[in-house]
Amino acid sequence: MDVIAFVNNLFNEAVANRASDIHVEPSMEDLIIRQRIDGYLVETCRLPLQEAKGILSRLKIMGQLDIGEKRLPQDGAMTIQVGEKFLEVRLATLPVLYGEKIVLRLLPSELAVRTLSELGMEIIEVDRVSKLLHRQGLVAITGPTGAGKTTTLYTLLTLLDHRRRNIITLEDPIEVQLAGINQVQVHHKIGFTFAKGLRAILRQDPDVIMIGEIRDQETAEIAIEAALTGHLVLTSLHTADGSSVISRLIDMGIPSYLVASALSGIVAQRLMRLTCGKCKGKGCLHCRSSGYFNRTGIFEVLSLDETTQHLIMNHPSVSQIRQHFQNKGFRMMEQSLLQKYEQGLTTIEELKRMESEMIKIAQLEK
Ligand SMILES: [Zn+2]
Repeated sequence: MDVIAFVNNLFNEAVANRASDIHVEPSMEDLIIRQRIDGYLVETCRLPLQEAKGILSRLKIMGQLDIGEKRLPQDGAMTIQVGEKFLEVRLATLPVLYGEKIVLRLLPSELAVRTLSELGMEIIEVDRVSKLLHRQGLVAITGPTGAGKTTTLYTLLTLLDHRRRNIITLEDPIEVQLAGINQVQVHHKIGFTFAKGLRAILRQDPDVIMIGEIRDQETAEIAIEAALTGHLVLTSLHTADGSSVISRLIDMGIPSYLVASALSGIVAQRLMRLTCGKCKGKGCLHCRSSGYFNRTGIFEVLSLDETTQHLIMNHPSVSQIRQHFQNKGFRMMEQSLLQKYEQGLTTIEELKRMESEMIKIAQLEK
């Protein structure tokens, strides 16, 4: 077998399939190749196990890993060319029973979408977000891993006028390179943490700061301080829904009066699979028999006003906050999901799957 041609074809095929990851897994008899498409793993190829050595070595060479080291996990990166496009690929190995498993994460070199409508937001939500981008304060994008938060953050950055505003990001990793924006990579190994990076950015006369994720109290404190001193701060958090963001920040040690005055908006989201347009859900060649093709965002876009600030200072429960937003007429994620289903964009099975996932995540948070 021509290993180089096989690996090149592996990447070409994954890009054609819109895959986000490629898994190369040795099992007892076979080397199994799977691709993650629209959030789900699909087996695309199975080879005799004796082919594994050549393929794994080729991938490890491309990722500049030590090909002799097979007992310890390793991680690396490479840039590949598919057609006219260059793609950044992160790879990670893991020693498993029958050899080494490799996962390749494909990072798109450019954003697939350019507008919030294309992400799945309704016009009223697009307007609400646009207003938030013209104010100072903290805007938090929230949802579990794989909910599309990074794409939303990047889309928000592209909507800002980078010629008139100094926009700096702090990321781990930098996933998409954006023109006109100063992107900073965090390096934990050398002590260049989110908190340290953020302090350095604040000395760079910024207008807009994007923090990939707030994971610790120190970063949360500096982010809040930046939002209170005239900056627009965009970030992501892991919470079940929009209302939980407020209690999460308070749990991180931020006093409620600071959360109330710094937080200006919350965008909660999930990704929903769209019914395949070719077969209308039955399964065909186009959708690899899944019945789905592509995904769209389900959103909850909340903006905070004085009444919400007053509520936050009284230490409300998550359900009280949620009720408050509902009373104010904001569309919750469940409603957004139901609306997309009623528009015929997805199946009843996908609707039910997403509803039960939302309930499960909300229970885990408690
Ligand atoms: Zn189909």
